[in-house]
Amino acid sequence: MSALIVGTMALDTLETPFGAKADVLGGSAVHSGVAASFFTEVSIVAPIGEDFPQEHLDFLKSRKIDIDGLQKIKGETFRWSGYYEFDMNQAHTRETQLNVLTEFSPKLSPKLSSLPIVFLANLDPEIQLSIINQVKGPKLIAADTMDFWIKSKKDALYEVIKKVDFMLMNESEVRMFMETPNIPLAARRLLKLGVKSVIIKQGEHGALLFTENGHFSAPSYPQDTFKDPTGAGDSFAGGFIGYLAKSGDFSEENIRKALILGSTMASFNIEDFSLDRMRSLKQHEIIDRYNEFREFSKFEAIDNLW
Ligand code: AMP
Repeated sequence: MSALIVGTMALDTLETPFGAKADVLGGSAVHSGVAASFFTEVSIVAPIGEDFPQEHLDFLKSRKIDIDGLQKIKGETFRWSGYYEFDMNQAHTRETQLNVLTEFSPKLSPKLSSLPIVFLANLDPEIQLSIINQVKGPKLIAADTMDFWIKSKKDALYEVIKKVDFMLMNESEVRMFMETPNIPLAARRLLKLGVKSVIIKQGEHGALLFTENGHFSAPSYPQDTFKDPTGAGDSFAGGFIGYLAKSGDFSEENIRKALILGSTMASFNIEDFSLDRMRSLKQHEIIDRYNEFREFSKFEAIDNLW
């Protein structure tokens, strides 16, 4: 099944303990779209400014991503500038320049509105809602967000949460949004709002899945190479959605596999700045790492100890 991904295409300025880069390729639709493209056909809908470099579009095309739905708008591309301290688990925003994002009002073509898998990557929740209203009978909708939108568009975000199958948030965001430090309680509060499943991204510590019936914990990966966490959450989402789209199987068992593949894609993305690691990533590396994840969390039941 093909996936529609709506989000940002960005030029990021980043600083991590391993270096600094200015105006590099980023954005929620780019990181998630590239990760998903390893598993399934992807169409991206996002705004770009007149300054968006052609080489980045060529890279997306080289990943066989359909970019016909991009909207080129007069003005500058969305820009995000951030830094990470020694503990790279938390991104600190220096500046968000919305630029052409303020003019973005996507109208989906009949082809895009009928794609079965929809991922609303981190974006203005009002635009996410407009996409939800345009898609026709999707099999699955997932959405992501971040503190910027939790603070500025809380009401619209509540509406998004009511209408999606999976809501993805990172730990600090869900704590802020649900006003509790207790993650399981925050997840239960989100579920009460109407979303079917909640995925909490915990950075280097893994990811948690909460549904009405249960809970699953994806393990962390002992990362040797770690240069730039930007896009970890988006590539997690891209791997998750991409695998579900490829398999077409939304059973609990398969959702667990998708969570590990999401973690696998995030673990590769953070090995280098921007999307540089994804440019050389091979399918066999994804399978090998997935199986490593499995080894890290496999243990036997105890029947009788005393
Ligand atoms: P993450 O996967 O959470 O690390 O997301 C990183 C990407 O999110 C960066 O490449 C940014 O360009 C993009 N980004 C930052 N702020 C926003 C925002 N407010 N809305 C949408 N995308 C954003």
